[in-house]
Amino acid sequence: MVYRKQIMSDKTLWDSCLHYFENTLPPQQFNSWIKPLAFEIKGNQITLTAPNSFTLKLVQERFLPEISKRAESFLSVVPNFELLIGKRSGSSPLPKPRAVETEIVQPLPLTKTQKNQNKLNPLLSFDNFVTGKANQLAHSAAIQVAESPGTIYNPLFIYGGVGLGKTHLIQSIGNHIKHENPQAKICYVHATNYISDVVRAFQTKKFDEFKQFYNSLDLLLIDDIQFIADKPGTQQEFFYTLNFLIDGHKQVVITCDTFPKEISGMTPRLTSRFSSGLTVAIEPPGVEMRVAILLQKAALSNNPITEDVAFFIAKHVRSNIRELEGALKRIDAFSRFHKRSISVELAKEALKDLLASQNKQVSIENIQKTVADFYRIKVTDLLSKKRARIIARPRQIAMCLARELTQLSLPEIGAAFGDRDHTTVMYACKTIESLRTQDAVLNNDFSLLNQTLRN
Ligand code: ADP
Ligand code: MG
Repeated sequence: MVYRKQIMSDKTLWDSCLHYFENTLPPQQFNSWIKPLAFEIKGNQITLTAPNSFTLKLVQERFLPEISKRAESFLSVVPNFELLIGKRSGSSPLPKPRAVETEIVQPLPLTKTQKNQNKLNPLLSFDNFVTGKANQLAHSAAIQVAESPGTIYNPLFIYGGVGLGKTHLIQSIGNHIKHENPQAKICYVHATNYISDVVRAFQTKKFDEFKQFYNSLDLLLIDDIQFIADKPGTQQEFFYTLNFLIDGHKQVVITCDTFPKEISGMTPRLTSRFSSGLTVAIEPPGVEMRVAILLQKAALSNNPITEDVAFFIAKHVRSNIRELEGALKRIDAFSRFHKRSISVELAKEALKDLLASQNKQVSIENIQKTVADFYRIKVTDLLSKKRARIIARPRQIAMCLARELTQLSLPEIGAAFGDRDHTTVMYACKTIESLRTQDAVLNNDFSLLNQTLRN
């Protein structure tokens, strides 16, 4: 049992660190310094493994104090740190595995960050949320819910990959309702903090208080619900609260990284409850929308950019909106530092590292390996003449991804897939494009793979 507790705190502690850094660091830094770390915990001994000495030194100097602080409050003892250099596996990490654990039993004092994370952020509003094809549906559902909470879509379930605007949208709903009705009892909570609340209620035997708090809300906004996967106790509590609020016509809005039926480790009664209102997706933005977002953000930052600069950034930074913001901040800082106005030339210089690492990462081999791993088939099958659907479909997906993520021409892609004709690649892209509008599972797989490969 002690061992079990240990595994549980291990995962949750590191998740909480990741979540903290993801929200406080620019994405480039988060991806370069924090994401590649391996984390292991035995007793009060914590081992952090970094891919090279440079990262190790940087982590030690800049991030260790925060990790240590969190570990201390988590474990209730002062941890010993061991910092190592080591390798992690080659291809892009797949977005599959989730915590395999049940309940956490460590005391969890509410940190300052947690308190802030539980608040509505007034800067995230409908006014500064740019809309386009990728988020239109989610945006209009959010507006309707904000205007008539508890009456039309309940719960509203918004799903999509990281950095696509889920938190922005859910917070906008809260801010709108708060503005219309300052008396409304509103709670925005990240799922990891909700878990902490359940645990705290458990430990302090204050379940009544906990229940009373959540059941008395007029609006519950719960972000990143995928974090309660594999936590049956938390799921049970959430199920009761969800039913209670919905039955009382109180609005609940949920965000998630995937659509309800795809969340593994979630009880079916909960996923079916999630789907009982309205489920809407936020897709990665297309190029026009990325340009619109960049122009809006630059205008707000008092260092506006021209359309050709926006197109240049949008062409190269394609993964998500958080990355777009990061790129823009870099360009802005670069221009202020060198006292030069922003041009495409300057953008190229400012994003040099980012562009280089992007070009390096998305190779056709990486796409083939990642898709094959994801569908649990062999790369050789992907390149073979086999026509069974379990192989042919992933092959088409991989071709379509190669078309989107590399600069290769259709004949070059065909050649890389076992010497196929360019018309086969064209057909594959068309098929996948059309299937994505009809098949939610395929669409979700595609988005996940797309994001994984771009990161
Ligand atoms: P998610 O919660 O899906 O990971 P966020 O809501 O945190 O993503 O969005 C990441 C960043 O991008 C935030 O700074 C957010 O304000 C910004 N953002 C996302 N979508 C939009 C949008 N449609 N218009 C303007 N800014 C956006
Ligand atoms: Mg978010």
